[in-house]
Amino acid sequence: MSNIQAVIITIGDELLIGQTIDTNSAWIAQRLNEQGIEVARRVAVGDTKAAIIDALDEEWKKASIIILTGGLGPTSDDITKPLLCEYFGGKLTVDEKVLAHLKEMFIRRNRPVLERNLKQAEVPDNCTVLFNEMGTAPGMWFEKNDKVIISLPGVPFEMKHIMEHVALPKLKDRFKSDAIIHRNIFTAGEGESFIAEKIQDIELSLPPYIKLAYLPDSGFVKLRLTGKGTDIPTLTAELELKQQELATRLANIVISMEDYPMERILGDSLKEKGKTLGLAESCTGGYLGHFMTQVPGASAYFMGSIVSYDNAIKQNVLGVKATTLAQYGAVSEETVIEMVQGALKLLNVDYALSVSGVLGPQGGTDRVKVGTVWMAVASKTEIRTKEFRFFYDRERNKEMAAKNGMLFLWRFINGKLS
Ligand code: AMP
Ligand code: MG
Repeated sequence: MSNIQAVIITIGDELLIGQTIDTNSAWIAQRLNEQGIEVARRVAVGDTKAAIIDALDEEWKKASIIILTGGLGPTSDDITKPLLCEYFGGKLTVDEKVLAHLKEMFIRRNRPVLERNLKQAEVPDNCTVLFNEMGTAPGMWFEKNDKVIISLPGVPFEMKHIMEHVALPKLKDRFKSDAIIHRNIFTAGEGESFIAEKIQDIELSLPPYIKLAYLPDSGFVKLRLTGKGTDIPTLTAELELKQQELATRLANIVISMEDYPMERILGDSLKEKGKTLGLAESCTGGYLGHFMTQVPGASAYFMGSIVSYDNAIKQNVLGVKATTLAQYGAVSEETVIEMVQGALKLLNVDYALSVSGVLGPQGGTDRVKVGTVWMAVASKTEIRTKEFRFFYDRERNKEMAAKNGMLFLWRFINGKLS
């Protein structure tokens, strides 16, 4: 079975100047991949007719599927619809279902319907409308020479809704392709080169239809096995065998076999054990709390975070002693110990984590250099501390502190601290 190739074209000047980050194509690529549709290319173009037509002409030659996002709004910079209509030789006509939905949306919000809004109910008569329940701009599906062109709104949640509920099921019916299956291993604590050395023989033993990718990020490395084939049960079994082989070889650094972020892995551990967590954050300023609350259902185990940025808060809220702060400083083992004890008690939790550091670029001293972050983890019976040193800019140091904090805690909870 041949592989179906898709191209994603994102439209919008805001993408080209970097004002908006193109999250649409990443999301679409993931979804297509899950259906065995390979993305051959991702292209971003501005809001001009010439640029869009150029991209279409070019990509049309190679791909069986072209997915466009953006340029479907009611304003003058949104030109995708008339352009596609012309490109495929159609005529704009009002779609009654879209019109009724559009009017209802405005009535519900108590807003007058403007002429330019009504125009959104016009669709090319040579396309299939991909109904947009979440917004006013309908998606469109064109077919020509056995190829499919799908045009979707740029607003991410509208685009996702149409893809998920209408476009992807339609694509699945239309194109039969090899299945693409992924299996992951999430590791922490070693770099990708070290891992590559350790698993060299396993990597060499992989058949041509199974590929291994290394995805490093903030001290973590995700290994992704991708298999392609038609016999899904056999392929899955084979992938899982290789995944197991890799996990056994890397046993001391494996965190999870799922493609989950650290906050989810930590959250799952807490949930499994029926334990609660509280935080005392200084330099991360609530960023750890943000991560913990990214996971749906976090309220089952995450109690809260005390953002004690200023020393007065460390002292007055958490109960860190003035003498500790004066003698050892805010970024010290002694301070994070008292912070974690304060969090444990005040938030009445089973586990707590405290973080205090100097993220830079200013604030470093001879004793406490920029990038130094002290952390303490505690249960009701045990406290462990660790000094980290990060060597990046402020933003990345913060990211590293938060991610490594979650890892430190996960290891503590699971008895994996050496
Ligand atoms: P449009 O359909 O062109 O009117 O786009 C509406 C809004 O969707 C834009 O203002 C952006 O905020 C957002 N948007 C457009 N394209 C993308 C994209 N590729 N990724 C993420 N957001 C986007
Ligand atoms: Mg736009």
